[in-house]
Formats: sequence, C-alpha cells, structure tokens
Amino acid sequence: MKEEITEKSNMVEQKPIEPIIDTFKSRESHICVKTGSLSLPQCDTPGIPGTVTQRTCVFGGARIVLMPITDALHLVHGPIGCASCTWDIRGSKSSGSKLYKQGCSSDLTEKEIVFGGEQKLYNSIIDLHRLHNPGAIFVYATCVSGVIGDDIKSVCKQAEKLTNCRTIPVESEGFQNHNKTKGHWIGCDALLDHVIGTSTYENPTARDINIVGEFNVAGDLWGIRPLLEYLGLNIITAITGDSKIEDIAKAHHAKLNVVQCQKSSNYLAKKMERKYGTPSLKVNFFGISSTISSITEIVEFFDDDEMKTKADVLIENMTKNLDEELKEYRDRLKGKTVALYAGGNKSWSLVRAFEELGMEVILSGTKNGMKEDYERIMETVKKGTIVVDDANSNELMKLLKKYKPNLLISGAKEKYIALKLKIGFCDFNHDRISAFAGFKGFLEFAKEVDAAVSTNVWNAVKPSPKLFRKKFDQKGFLFEKSEYNKQT
Ligand code: SF4
Repeated sequence: MKEEITEKSNMVEQKPIEPIIDTFKSRESHICVKTGSLSLPQCDTPGIPGTVTQRTCVFGGARIVLMPITDALHLVHGPIGCASCTWDIRGSKSSGSKLYKQGCSSDLTEKEIVFGGEQKLYNSIIDLHRLHNPGAIFVYATCVSGVIGDDIKSVCKQAEKLTNCRTIPVESEGFQNHNKTKGHWIGCDALLDHVIGTSTYENPTARDINIVGEFNVAGDLWGIRPLLEYLGLNIITAITGDSKIEDIAKAHHAKLNVVQCQKSSNYLAKKMERKYGTPSLKVNFFGISSTISSITEIVEFFDDDEMKTKADVLIENMTKNLDEELKEYRDRLKGKTVALYAGGNKSWSLVRAFEELGMEVILSGTKNGMKEDYERIMETVKKGTIVVDDANSNELMKLLKKYKPNLLISGAKEKYIALKLKIGFCDFNHDRISAFAGFKGFLEFAKEVDAAVSTNVWNAVKPSPKLFRKKFDQKGFLFEKSEYNKQT
C-alpha cells in the first residue's frame, strides 16, 4: 500500500535518534532511513560551506538540456573555464551532425570584464556563423557575463538580424540558484520561447509524438525509438537527444509528449500542455517491467486496436529469449546490494531494474533532488533503505564503508571513491559508453553490472605501503629513509 506523505513529515526527520554517519551537525538531516512513517531527507538547500558539495551550477543545468541538439552551436559567454568544464558534458550521441561537439566560448578576459563583453560576443557569433553555418546558436550567460551586465538578449537579436540564423539567449547565470534544476528549466524556457511552435509540420498524423527528456546518452534513444515506431507512432522529435533544431520547432504538433527524464523535462511537458494542449505521459524505459508498462500506457492513451495487437507481438518477441539470456547474470547477481547515487530520475527509476536482476537497492540519493524527487524515491525503495541528499565525497565514502554495497551506480566524480574501497562501479551518468534503455539495453545493463560486481580484480589488489612522514626540516617534509626502505 502506498504510504501517505503528510505535511508534517514533508521535509525532514529533524531529530534522527542517532546520526547515520559522522558528519556536520547541519548535514545530519540530509541523510535518513526509510521507516514505516515516511520521512524525507532535508533537500534543495544551498551547500553548507566547508562540506564541498559536488553539484554543478545553473549554467551547467541549462547546458545539459540543450547540448544534445546536434546541428546547433553552443556558445558560452564567459571565461574559458565555464565552457571547458562543461564541454561534451552529456555524452549524447548523434546519428547526423557533430556540430554540437564543438566547444565554443567568447573567452572573456580582464579587458571585457572592465569594458564589457557585448562586442566580443557579437563578433564571436558572426565568426561562428561564417565558419559553421549552424542550425542555431545557443548563447549561454554565465556568472561573469551576468555580473558585468552584458545584454545577451539584445546581442543575440542583432546577430540574428544579420545572419538570419536562430540565435537564442539562454539566461543561465550560474549564481542564480544552488540547484542546477533551475538551469534545466532555463534551458527548457529557451526552447519554449524561441524554438517550439515556430515551424509548421507538413503532414501531421493522429500518431505524432515527441520523446521528451531523453538525451541519447550512449545511444539510449536508439533503444526506445524502434519500439515506438513499431507501434506505428511517428516521432516528430526527441527533446533533445539526437535532435535537430527544425524538428524541435515542430514539436507543438505532437498529440502526446512521452516524458522519460521527469527530473529535467516535466517542466517543459507541463508548459507545452498549458500552451498547446499537448498531453504528457511519464514513461521509464529502463528495466523490463518498466519498458512493458511504458509501452502499454502509450498504447492505452491512443486506444487503437491495431496498435494494441502490435504491442502484444512486440512485447512477446522482445521478451521471448530475454529470461534465458539473463539467466547467467541473474545467477551471479542474486542477493547482491546496490547503492544508487545518480540523477533524480535514476534514483527511483532504476530500483525496479535492479530487482529484476535479483539485486537489492540499499541506498539511494541525488545531488540536486527536490521534495518530489525524494517522495518518488521513498515510494519506490524498501523499508530500511538509506536515502541521502547532496552527499559530499567524504560522506559518500563513509556510507559506502558502513553499508558495503556490492555496487555503486553513479557518475565520474564518484567513480574513484568506489574503486578505492574495492566496490564495483557502474557509470549511469553522462560518461557511460553502453546504452541501457529498452529490452536490448537491459541485457547490456545486466552484462555491465555483472562485470562490475563479479570481477576478480579486487583479489589482485594489494594494499599500498604506508609511508610515514617521520621527520621534517625547514625544507619541508622528508621521509625517514630507513623507514621508507623498510616499507618499499
Ligand atoms: S557559470 Fe558561474 S558557477 Fe558556473 S562554471 Fe561559470 S563561473 Fe562557475
């Protein structure tokens, strides 16, 4: 039975009987255990000074939403660091143009910070247009361009007049909020205000849909698209994985938005519903039962007998040999435990997928989760699961040491924490190279999880020698030579 979330229990288990791990007092309420009475960790608050949050900024949040648009250029108006730290941040694949992979920055330096950077930005847009003739140029505001007060909206307008190329301001100054989710919304707003609804779809059908919040990381979209096309659905565009700007401009003609990443893109789906009356359906193509129920719900929406028959055939064909193919992985993975520390959506949508492999999720958390994300997590995980918000690397290490999962699912920043603790690691963020969506994707997922959990490599890892620093003089630290020789 679904547990109710009451106003009282809303945010926080304010006074945990005993801290789950030793951390800052003010961080204790960000970590809780799912108990009978539903409580949520404190969340969506600014990082606490000294704890070194691993979050990215609002600009980063906007960039990950827009970057997968393949025929667009993404020009970061700021110092070079903002662009280089987020270059190719998504790991999204393209079946066509590779233009989105270009790293572009207006490279603001001291001169522009004193005298303004609008002229340099204008020149950069014109040069980029001449060089690449892109489908669009997204111009991102950063902290620095925001502080010096550059009017990127007006520069974009001027440049667009000259080039006739869509030049879209993204007002994503990094300092706007502690939560990059705000950046997702700003990215969505850039599409809603400047792209969606600006082109006409030539041959509309009753089965036109958009796949929203699917970014084609490692090619995930290519595991979903064929399933929907088999049902007879016509995909106008994905927003934004492997997409082209002109296709997104026609997205308002869709009869349905299917929303894969609800964390980043529910906002866009809701706004499209208000503006164009496009209904939306939340889906999840990670895991067998989630993929089946997503297909079933889409078919129910269209209420079409032919589509229903096709869906039955599709599900039967795709799952026919799956149990057999999964058997060896399930045999090895049964009873193994998982810690999920991934993006909001994955921290609940993967729970069932792991259960289908016979594994148990014992910890789930996010860096930028909001109240509704934690409600979803709490609805999905079992009693006793640790739920953590915005853990820094030290806290994550302590949690992993205490609960000893067999696997950590996370992103590049957390990888070495797990490996140093001899815990299997599987990347489910932007740097992964295997597609995990759909039925075939699930098989790949099982293989990768098994490779990480069942590896023998930890038996070959020896502890490193302890080097004691015994002596130091004015020149700095010196090893005691005899001790050093003894130990090495
Ligand atoms: S936008 Fe601001 S917070 Fe984000 S990378 Fe640039 S300087 Fe840093």
